[in-house]
Parts: sequence; structure tokens; C-alpha cells
Amino acid sequence: MAKDIDLIKEKIELVDFLRSYLTLSPAGKNFKAICPFHQEKTPSFIVSPERQIWHCFGCGAGGDVIGFAMRYENLEFPEALRFLAERAGITLQSMGLQAEREFGALFDIHEAAKEFYKQELFKNKNAQDYLKNRGLMKDTIDEFELGFAPGGEALTVYLIHKGFDIQDIVRAGLTNKNTSGLYRDRFQSRLIFPICNQVGRTIAFTGRFLESLVRGPSDMPKYLNSPETPIFNKSKALYGFHKSKNEIARAKSVLLVEGQMDFLMSWQTGVKNAVSVSGTGLTAYHLERLRRLADTVILSFDNDEAGLKALERSLEAISAFDFHVKAMDLGKYKDPAEAVKENPENFKKVVAETKPAFTYIFSHYFKKGESDGDRVSEKRLLRYLLQLIKKVKSAVEQNSLIRELAKFSGISETVLLSEISEMPDEKIPQRGVEEQEENVKVSNERINLIADRLLAIAFSGDDFFERTKKYIEFLPLIYRKVFNDPKSSEAAKFQMLSSMIQSEDQKEINEEFGELLIELQIESLKKERLDLQSKSREMKVKKGDNEEESPELMEKFSLLSKRIDDLKNRVKT
Ligand SMILES: [Zn+2]
Repeated sequence: MAKDIDLIKEKIELVDFLRSYLTLSPAGKNFKAICPFHQEKTPSFIVSPERQIWHCFGCGAGGDVIGFAMRYENLEFPEALRFLAERAGITLQSMGLQAEREFGALFDIHEAAKEFYKQELFKNKNAQDYLKNRGLMKDTIDEFELGFAPGGEALTVYLIHKGFDIQDIVRAGLTNKNTSGLYRDRFQSRLIFPICNQVGRTIAFTGRFLESLVRGPSDMPKYLNSPETPIFNKSKALYGFHKSKNEIARAKSVLLVEGQMDFLMSWQTGVKNAVSVSGTGLTAYHLERLRRLADTVILSFDNDEAGLKALERSLEAISAFDFHVKAMDLGKYKDPAEAVKENPENFKKVVAETKPAFTYIFSHYFKKGESDGDRVSEKRLLRYLLQLIKKVKSAVEQNSLIRELAKFSGISETVLLSEISEMPDEKIPQRGVEEQEENVKVSNERINLIADRLLAIAFSGDDFFERTKKYIEFLPLIYRKVFNDPKSSEAAKFQMLSSMIQSEDQKEINEEFGELLIELQIESLKKERLDLQSKSREMKVKKGDNEEESPELMEKFSLLSKRIDDLKNRVKT
């Protein structure tokens, strides 16, 4: 692997590579561009040809050619290596004969099977009618390469004729050996939806059983997925993602639906920033992946009790990832696919008007005037909702949710607050916490972005370094560590970035440096003020609502506010 990385870096010149993605303009020894990873008008994406690295001072992203490919193309590390190797026309050592034999054949078998299924769909009027009745158009069917599995051993025979080894076909999960020792296709009388990886290679299939093709009752499961194989990991695949990832990044939001049909119908109507979690369920891996592209999740599950429960479950998982979560109100339609089929224009309107997920849930449980007066179940419901709220990461958001719940339920905010504060803390998985303490990780928090740029300048000259040192108390902890030990490995990043600074206009840098110092203080004081706010809230809850704020806290609070205002005035002048 290490040799492959060197080889790729040696063969691919970063600036040339980036030119196929971005418009680069010269800036001293470096190049500048508008960052593709966040919205901006003036370029803060810097490329250093000398060091073969890039860094964005606007959003904190940065790395080498492999890092860029991973981020831009949404690839995992090994996928990015493969992708770059294909572009540069090099053969990777780690993808040597052994691996090629193991994985390569599986990819090829899936490719051939997909072609077979497509031909079969073309021949099968029944399956075509089913799709037509569901409202799917030919273009969509072609684009997502839907197919039909006739069953028996048709596919197995086809693949053997194509020259594939029966062992490999079994390993690909497309054929099973039955009790009499005969090979039978896994998918029988099913519509076929190919599942692709990030780069669009087919890695598995979902088959939807077509009842209309079988006489009499059947106990077949409605949906059947490929089993896990060396190329198909259920918890990582997301249906439609290889097509929709760029749309998701552009919209900064993702529509999460249950079934493939929901996804396809949504895509067909022009709502393309969607994915389907069909069959696999939502995993932390999915959420982490999506979080890199979007900050809003719109949930659109089936419009029934099961769908609501699925929504609430997802909400718990999503809460740990700091998304804005919205939920779609499908009205009279049972699922997104039906909503699109019956009224595509209305569907688009509803997507645009989605409410926060909690508002959706509250309004479901507290329908106007529909109280059955059952106090016990109402209490249980409130506890349940408070538990959901407690899992929300941001304290500010928690507070506003409690305010909202008070409005819906008619129970006072104080009572709800004291109830929630007495609930035991459930551990929720927090992503990347350990990593964050270990090294300076890319973070979108404003104070970190300021600190990034500040430290890059600080490391570019002794004078800057000494001046920054005076403000060390305002830096986030991880940056202080870097500062105290400029020889540490964490500091290497800033040493590297500082070389970019040295070729920029020094007069401008000097001005920027002054502004950054002020911005840093403002952000740090704001954080302190926020902490104080939640502390005072907690105290109020403990003492009861009528209690006055502690004079000591209030004085601290106003002192902080005054310092922030003073600093803000200095930025303006
Ligand atoms: Zn950026």
C-alpha cells in the first residue's frame, strides 16, 4: 500500500490534476481557487506545487492528491487509490494478481449479471407493466439499469457460458446450491435493482418479488438483497448514492427514503438529492458519509405507524451527528413513490416546505383538541419525547425543542426542564472524539478555522509567533498544545501551511493577522458566554422558576457581553 501511495504521488502532479476540477490562478509561488467544499466568493483554497498539498482557509479542508480525490469524488481511501491509478494508467501493487482474482471476478460477474437482467426485463411484458403502473419512466429505468430475474438457473447457465467459474458465481451470492446439489439462481421472478458502490460499479442487487407472475399464494419475502460478499458490505451501501452525491453536496441536504421505488420516483421528478436505505437500515457509517456533504436530513418514510417509529429511531441515530433533521408530511399518500406518481408538482412543493422532524412528531402526537384525557399515557408519552430531545447534541437546540413541546402539550416549560434534567444520561456515540483530542482534526467550527489561519501565520515568522503567544488563552485546547510544542508532529501541519503564507502579500497578511486576533477573542468569549448561559439555566431549574438569576452570574454575563461588543467595534473601525 505504501508503495502505491508513493507511486501515485510521483505520477500525478497535483496542480495538473486539480486543473481538471478547479480554475486555478497563480498567487506567488502558489495557486488559489474557489473552494469546491464550501460556499465562497473570494478564493481561500491554496495549492502549493512545491509541497504538493492543498489547504482551504475557509473551511479547514486540506491534504494531498489522494485526499482531494477522496473528498471530491466521495471515495474511501482504497477506492481513491484505484480511481487515481486508473486515471494515471498505473497498476497498483496492492491490487496485484491475488486481489484481482478475488475482487476482480466478483465485479465482472456483477457486471455480466446486470446485463443479463436488463435483457430479461426487455423481454418480459409483465415486469415492464409493473414498472409502468408504478409510474416509472423508461429513461429512469435505463439510467438505473433495472432488470428482471426470470429464475430457475437461467443466470447461472448464462454466466457459465460467459466463462465464469461456478465457485466465483456462488461467492458473488448470485447462485445457491440446493439440497439436491443443484445450482439455482438466488433471485427468482424478481424485479432487479442494481446496488452500486461510490464509483458506480455494481456490487449487489435487490430483488422485488412480482406476485403477479406466480400462481397461488406465495411465502416469498417481498424484498431480497444479495448476501454480504467481499465487495458488498450492507452497512456501507446506500442505494442511489453514486448518482446523487453531487446533488446532495450542492443542496447541502439529503432526502432519506425507505425503498428503491421511493428513490427512483423522487429522482424522476427532479428531487435528486436523495438516497434510499432500503434493506440495510441507517448506520453510523451512512450518517458520517452524508454529514460530509450535507447539514440537513429530510426524512420521508412510509406514512403509517411503522414509518413514524422508523422516523423516531432514525432521529435517535441522526441526533449524534449534528444534522438539522426535517420530516416530510406526505398527507394522504402512503409513501414518497405514491406521492410522486399521483402529484409530482405537489411532491416538490412538500419537499421544499418540510418542517423540523420534532415539529412533525409533536403535531402527530398532539393533534388539536384530540386529548383522550388519559393522564398516565400522556405522562409516558412526554417522557418518551423528552428522552428523544435529550439525545440532541446542541444544548441551544434542546432548549428550543422544550419550548416547542411546552406549546404543543400545554405543560409548562419549567416542569419539562426539570423532568429532563432528572433523566439519566444515556451514552450516545460521539463521532471522532478520541481522534479530535489526539490531533488537530478538520472541523467546521468557526473558532477552529480562525485558529488554523492564525497559527499558519504565526509559524511563518518569529514576530507573528511571539504576538500570537500573548493570546494563547483564547485558543482552543488542541491548538494550545501545538503552540507550546512547536516541534511536535501536530505542529508540522502549521509549519507546512506557513510556507504558503510566506509567498502571500505581507502587508495584507499583517492586516489579516490583526483581524484574526480580534476574531479569535470574540469567538472564545462567545463560547464562554454560552457556557454561562446553560449554567444559569440549570441553576434556575434546580431552584424553581421564580428564583432570581444569581447576581454573580449576571455580572459575569454582562461583563462578557461588554468585552465582546468592544472587540466587535474594533473590527468595524
Ligand atoms: Zn473550503
